[in-house]
Amino acid sequence: MKKVFRKIGVLTSGGDAPGMNSVIKSVTCAAIEKGVEVVGILGGYSGLINERLRPLTKNDVAGIVSLGGTVLYSDRCDEFKTEEGMQKAIATCKKYNIDGIVAIGGDGTFRGATDLSIRGIPCIGVSGTIDNDITATDVTVGYDTAMNTVLALGDRLRDTCESHARCNVIEVMGRHAGYIAIETGLALGAIGVAVQEVPFDKEALFKKMKASRDAGQRSFIVVVAEGLGSEFSEGLAKEIEEETGVETRFVRPAHIVRGGIPTLADRNFAAKSGYKAVEVLLDGISDVVICSRHDEIVPIDIKYALILDRMYKNKLKDGDLDSFSNEQIEEMKKICAERKKYFTDMYEVVNAIGC
Ligand code: ADP
Repeated sequence: MKKVFRKIGVLTSGGDAPGMNSVIKSVTCAAIEKGVEVVGILGGYSGLINERLRPLTKNDVAGIVSLGGTVLYSDRCDEFKTEEGMQKAIATCKKYNIDGIVAIGGDGTFRGATDLSIRGIPCIGVSGTIDNDITATDVTVGYDTAMNTVLALGDRLRDTCESHARCNVIEVMGRHAGYIAIETGLALGAIGVAVQEVPFDKEALFKKMKASRDAGQRSFIVVVAEGLGSEFSEGLAKEIEEETGVETRFVRPAHIVRGGIPTLADRNFAAKSGYKAVEVLLDGISDVVICSRHDEIVPIDIKYALILDRMYKNKLKDGDLDSFSNEQIEEMKKICAERKKYFTDMYEVVNAIGC
């Protein structure tokens, strides 16, 4: 018999991202429209363990879409990774009649959602991470805003670099993914972009920069992905100055890029994802993450999404693929190959036109 949902919970967990509030609004309004109550769980999974709950009405969420961060707050909760913590979370769901949960976050958050789903609390994941590091979805909520923030900062740096004939090396977020770096590098007309996905040719950068400076170019921007490490990015700024003679400054906007007003693209992807999450949850589906695939919003099995990430990062363990059909494995390989090719192609474009 199909489960009847009377009340669902919504939470944000892990690193915050602009657009999370649009997901919260969408989930709340979509559920209420379907006659289902909504409770906000404060501070991610720790709020579930510690019973930090807040009923949500349409009025509560009407004005939150333009806010960065998350009105439900976010946290990292190690206790939730233990069986004891998990049981406390389940007890809270039972005590407050929470029939299902929409969990907004990154891959860690989805792991938690799977653990709850298999213990009888149906969960749906929605991406909320600026890094765009979830292989199953073409984009994640927060990614577009983060890129636009880097763009705005980079444009300002370009102004002052031009005035003072300098280079600026900008290190941007992306612990395991160079998407923000490569896209903003292209948009900023950077002379170089270094990401972990493609080998970086330092010597070629120095040569190109010297030639451009000799030809009279005053300003230079180089973008580096955080994943390469601070030693690399800070060291690169020093080396550029030593090797090319161009005065070079280093800047790390860090968490500035995680805040701010969400863009239209993020808000609308968030809104559609939240709507879909409620639709599939009430339809009896769980343990899926809402993804964007070729402009379609689709639910994808969380286990599939997590293993796909591992495949993409070349971190598959023995037995990881055992529960998947050959067709699924081929599809996974294809997605990984497409993503990798995207970086190789983009690196070529950036290098060809950056100056
Ligand atoms: P993100 O969701 O942004 O990847 P984290 O990796 O920090 O961020 O995960 C967020 C939270 O999800 C963790 O603090 C923890 O509460 C929960 N979580 C992460 N990994 C697991 C796991 N293996 N099992 C259960 N819960 C997990």
